[in-house]
Amino acid sequence: MIQLTNVSKQYDNGIVAVNDITLRIEQGEFVYVIGPSGSGKSTFMKLLNREVIATAGKMVVGKFNVSKIKKKQLPFLRRDVGVVFQDFKLLPNLTAFENIAYALEVTGASGKEIKQRVNEVLNLIGLSHKVHQYPDELSGGEQQRIAIARAIANKPKVLVADEPTGNLDPDTAMEIMQILEDINQSGTTVIMGTHNDYLVNQRKHRVLRLEQGRLISDLYKGDYREIN
Ligand code: ADP
Repeated sequence: MIQLTNVSKQYDNGIVAVNDITLRIEQGEFVYVIGPSGSGKSTFMKLLNREVIATAGKMVVGKFNVSKIKKKQLPFLRRDVGVVFQDFKLLPNLTAFENIAYALEVTGASGKEIKQRVNEVLNLIGLSHKVHQYPDELSGGEQQRIAIARAIANKPKVLVADEPTGNLDPDTAMEIMQILEDINQSGTTVIMGTHNDYLVNQRKHRVLRLEQGRLISDLYKGDYREIN
């Protein structure tokens, strides 16, 4: 469960990127975050793993009171909130296997556990045969699948994806959507920022619409066009 109560984020330059948002997201929901560029989508999503710190309000993510979290608890919050980016952010000098393993190594898992889990997630995203390739030897869609595998390696409760299909062609975008929906089906909350109205209309889920940092609509199974 995610609960925001009157949450705001004002950056040091004075811009209020997230403005007084109150909302609740239940475990297992699939939620789109939409809105024009600069409306606060990325900031909203970065608040969830405390990459950005709220300047007002209260925020609970699962068992964490994010507004008051202690530094030593941060790694645990981040294990519960996996993140995926538009530009994949894979480490270029590591293979697909090593990129995913890296996320697990920091948790103190044994070599055997790591190997088992990496193979599990590679299977899930259908890329077991590309395990030893480096990112630049993979297509954009394949890189994004590896990035998703890395994000779910620690079995997070929440997966945050900021424009995950932004750099991909429409067919590949659909494949990525299917993977996100499969992950959601297994009980993970998925929160996806997107500009892609086609996806939002094809695959109906709850839609949060931001404008100038404010939550201006919150529609279940909403149609992107209707709220434009
Ligand atoms: P979106 O993801 O919808 O494009 P962002 O959350 O990236 O929106 O940005 C919201 C607003 O906050 C914009 O006006 C942007 O310029 C500003 N902003 C984003 N990040 C920072 C930052 N690190 N410092 C100052 N202002 C920022």
